[in-house]
Amino acid sequence: MQQNTASFDAIVIGSGIGSLTTAALLAKERGMRVLVLEKHFNLGGQTHEFKRKGKYEFDVGLHYIGGMDRGSGKAVFDYLTEGRLLWQKMPDEFEKFVYPDLEFDVPSDGKLYRQRLIERYPAERAAIERYFHDVKAAATWYSMGHLGDALPAALRPLLKLAFRWKGGLAALTVEQYLERHFSDPRLKALLASQWGDYGLPPSQAAFGMHALIVTHYWRGAWYPVGGAKQIARAIIPVIERLGGQVVSGKTVTEILVEHGRATGVRTIATLKPHRPPVDYAAPIVISGAGAVNTYLKLVPRHVDIPFRDRLAHLAQLQQGTSAISVYLGLKASPATLGIRGENHWVYSGYDHNRAAADTSFTQGYYLSFASLKNPQARSHTAEIITFAKYERFAQWSDGRWKKRGDDYERLKQDIAQQLIDRVERRIPGFAALVDYVDVSTPLTMEHFQGNPRGEFYGLPATPDRLFQPWTGAKTPVGNLYLTGGDVMSPGVVGAMIGGVKAAGAMMGPFGFFRLMKTMAEAQRRTEQTGRAPASETASAG
Ligand SMILES: Cc1cc2nc3c(=O)[nH]c(=O)nc-3n(C[C@H](O)[C@H](O)[C@H](O)COP(=O)(O)OP(=O)(O)OC[C@H]3O[C@@H](n4cnc5c(N)ncnc54)[C@H](O)[C@@H]3O)c2cc1C
Repeated sequence: MQQNTASFDAIVIGSGIGSLTTAALLAKERGMRVLVLEKHFNLGGQTHEFKRKGKYEFDVGLHYIGGMDRGSGKAVFDYLTEGRLLWQKMPDEFEKFVYPDLEFDVPSDGKLYRQRLIERYPAERAAIERYFHDVKAAATWYSMGHLGDALPAALRPLLKLAFRWKGGLAALTVEQYLERHFSDPRLKALLASQWGDYGLPPSQAAFGMHALIVTHYWRGAWYPVGGAKQIARAIIPVIERLGGQVVSGKTVTEILVEHGRATGVRTIATLKPHRPPVDYAAPIVISGAGAVNTYLKLVPRHVDIPFRDRLAHLAQLQQGTSAISVYLGLKASPATLGIRGENHWVYSGYDHNRAAADTSFTQGYYLSFASLKNPQARSHTAEIITFAKYERFAQWSDGRWKKRGDDYERLKQDIAQQLIDRVERRIPGFAALVDYVDVSTPLTMEHFQGNPRGEFYGLPATPDRLFQPWTGAKTPVGNLYLTGGDVMSPGVVGAMIGGVKAAGAMMGPFGFFRLMKTMAEAQRRTEQTGRAPASETASAG
C-alpha cells in the first residue's frame, strides 16, 4: 500500500457531469482544491467521446439536451464552464416518432406540439389539454420530491405532506396516467415514445420522470458545439485553475472510513491492477459512481448503512435499462438522404412494455446523427441504439474487453447488421453510406463506466424512487456525499443538478437553493453585460 501525500480538500469519485459539477462548484464557491479520480482512460463519464479510424468521433451518452437557450440548466452550464460551452440548436422538428402506420414530427414548441396532437386526435382534445397541464405539474413535483433532502431537516416532513396532498400525479406510473385519461392506443403509445430517455417502459416509469423529459424539450433540443466531449473540456480547466486535479485511469476500490467519517479513498491503476494500491486522503469524499456502487461496493461492509440491505434487495428486483449502441462511420453526409439532424424513435408496434421486455432487438431503435448536430464535425457519423437485457450477454461477463471471443463478436455483428438493415428499409441508401461499424453492449457499459449490469441510467426512475434515503446527497457516513444522476434524475441536466445538490449539501441549510440563485444571478448579469461569468466568486455559503 502506498500513501499519496498531495493535499486536497475533497476527493470526487468519477468524472461524469455530476462529479465535475460538484468539483467545480466546490472550487469556485469554497476555494477548495479538489481531486477528481476517474477509472476510465477518457474523462467525462457518459459525456465522453471516442474516436475510430482517426476521424470518426462518437459520443456515448449525449444526443440532445433541452432548455439550452435560457433557464436554470443553461445557467448552471454557463457558470461551470465560464461561458466556454456553446450550443447548437437542433432542427425544428427535432425528433420523429415512427410507428408501423404513423409518423409524428415533434416541434420545438410545446404549444405547437399540443396543437398537432389535437389536430390528429380531435376526439381526445380534452385529455390532451389536460395532459399538457398535468405534465407541467408532475415535473415540478417530481423535482421537488428529489430535492426534499436539500431542505433543512425540519421542513422535510412538510414537503412530504404537500407531496401527498398535491403531488400524487408524479408518483403514478406513466401507464396508470395514460390509461386513466386516454382511449386511443396509438395516442397513448405516441405520448410515451420518449421512454428511452428515462429507460423504463410505461408500466414501470414514474409519470413525474416522464413529465420531466417531456417538458425538458418543450423549447426544442440542443447539442454542444464541438461534441459532448466539450462539456468536460470546458469544466476541467476551472477545477485545475483553482488548484484541483483531474486524473484518469484510477479506479477507486474503497472509500476509507474512520470512526464513521470518510477520510479518503483507496485506488488502483485501472490498466495495471496488479500494482500496489495507492491511498489518497481528504476530509471530504464525494462519489459520482452511483448509489448502488457506492453503498454496496465502495463503502466497507463494517460501516453501518441503515438501508444497505434494502438497497441491495431493490437492486436485485428492479432491473433498470441497458442498451446496445451501434456506432457508424459514414462515407458521406446523411443529409444526402434527407436527414436534417433530427432523432428518430422507431417502433415495430404500439406496446412499449412488450418492446422493453423483448430480447430480439427487433421491437424498436433510436437513430441519431451527431455530425449533423455539430457544426464542427469533421466526418459524418450515425448511432443506432436499442435497449438490451444484460442477461443476453452475461455469459461473456468474465471475459476481458476485446477478448470476449468469437461468439460474442459474431452476436454483436449480427445485431449491428439487423439494425442497419432495418434503417435501410426506412431510409433507402443508408446502408451504402456505412464505412465503419463498432458496437457496444451492456458489458461495455459495465466495463468502462462501472454501471452494474450496464444500467447506464442508474437507479430506475420508478415511482418509489422518490424520497428514498439512497437518493440523498448526504449519506449516513460523515463527510461522504453522493452526486450525479442518482441523487436527482437520469440525463445530463438531471445529473448536473444532482451535482449542484451535492455541493449544496456541504453549504448549510438551503445551500442548493443559494447556489442555484448565485448561478441564475450570474446568468442575468451575463445577459445584461454580454460578458461570460469568468471568475465569479460570489459566495453561496
Ligand atoms: C446511449 C446513451 C444515450 C444517452 N443520451 C442522452 C441524451 O441524449 N441526453 C441526456 O441528457 N442524457 C443522455 N444519456 C444519459 C446521460 O448521459 C447520463 O444520465 C449522465 O451523463 C450521467 O451522469 P453522471 O455524472 O450521473 O454519471 P456518469 O456519466 O456515468 O459518470 C460516472 C463516472 O464515474 C466513473 N466511476 C464509476 N465507478 C468508479 C470508480 N470505482 N472509480 C473511479 N471512477 C468511477 C465512471 O467511469 C464514470 O465516468 C444517455 C446515456 C446513454 C448511455
